[in-house]
Amino acid sequence: MNARLRWLRGLIWSAMLLLAGFPVQAKALKVVTSFLPVYCFTVQVAGEWAEVDNLLPSGVGPHEFQFAPRDLRKLTDADLVIINGLQLESWLETALKQAAGRRPQKIVAVSDGLDSRLIRDEESQAVRSGAGEKTPAESSGQAPGAGPNPHIWLDPQLAAHAVTNILKALQKADPDHAAGYRANALRYLAQLQKIDDDYRAALTPLKSVAFVTYHQAFPYLIRRYGLNLAGVIEAVPDVEPSPKYLARLSRLMRDQKVKVIFTEPQYSGKLAVQLARDHQIDLGVLDTLETGPLQPGAYEEGMRRNLGNLVKFLKP
Ligand SMILES: [Zn+2]
Repeated sequence: MNARLRWLRGLIWSAMLLLAGFPVQAKALKVVTSFLPVYCFTVQVAGEWAEVDNLLPSGVGPHEFQFAPRDLRKLTDADLVIINGLQLESWLETALKQAAGRRPQKIVAVSDGLDSRLIRDEESQAVRSGAGEKTPAESSGQAPGAGPNPHIWLDPQLAAHAVTNILKALQKADPDHAAGYRANALRYLAQLQKIDDDYRAALTPLKSVAFVTYHQAFPYLIRRYGLNLAGVIEAVPDVEPSPKYLARLSRLMRDQKVKVIFTEPQYSGKLAVQLARDHQIDLGVLDTLETGPLQPGAYEEGMRRNLGNLVKFLKP
């Protein structure tokens, strides 16, 4: 090798070493969310500063998800794992403990800090339906003993609480972008406020109209706007109701002059179709937003679609 070539090789080597030593752009915060609404809220607050990945593929609901070992990798690699809490992700608990290791603070539940009176465990309206002592607007529970009802995201004000928790978590994990996260969160909270205003304005005149839903997914929304839920078809998610239960529900529907049964896009709704036919009433759709395409605007669009359907079927 002649001197010139050695010199050139030396130059290339130093250039490479110099480049390798250059500070790389700080890596974006890696966040994993559990299911659709939490994904939407997080993406909205994260903006360009954090990478958000959702655990559940679109089309798989949080009540029936089967956790696979390969999902553990996602959790372990994440800087932050954001879940709903209130036992919605009970299938995730062991994996979460494992993934968090010595950093339990990396797991954040958006329901954290909610007043326990807001999420108290009550007997399900549907389960009590035979007793004739229902207080639908106050009912927030699932089946007795099933723990708090997890469906907080369907009430825009509780959704705002979730967004605030996400903001705090992102700011803590990535203080450099705290102001940016705050600006994003404020913009999104204003949109949630608008949804809340629109729900209240549209539903106040329809408070007294009785309806039935598929599973106990809307107690917070119903309580927020004082709606009249007569009962639900599936008192425990993914458990078929007994004939005795259905007979009771049917009686109640007649007594309360139920106007519509709302099914969910995720369920076949055969029972709902049959009940609606028996009672000669309408069949509508309310989306629990538990599944769906992973798009940042999916939550708002879903909430607006639901409001449209509530108004369409509850109005006289
Ligand atoms: Zn649900």
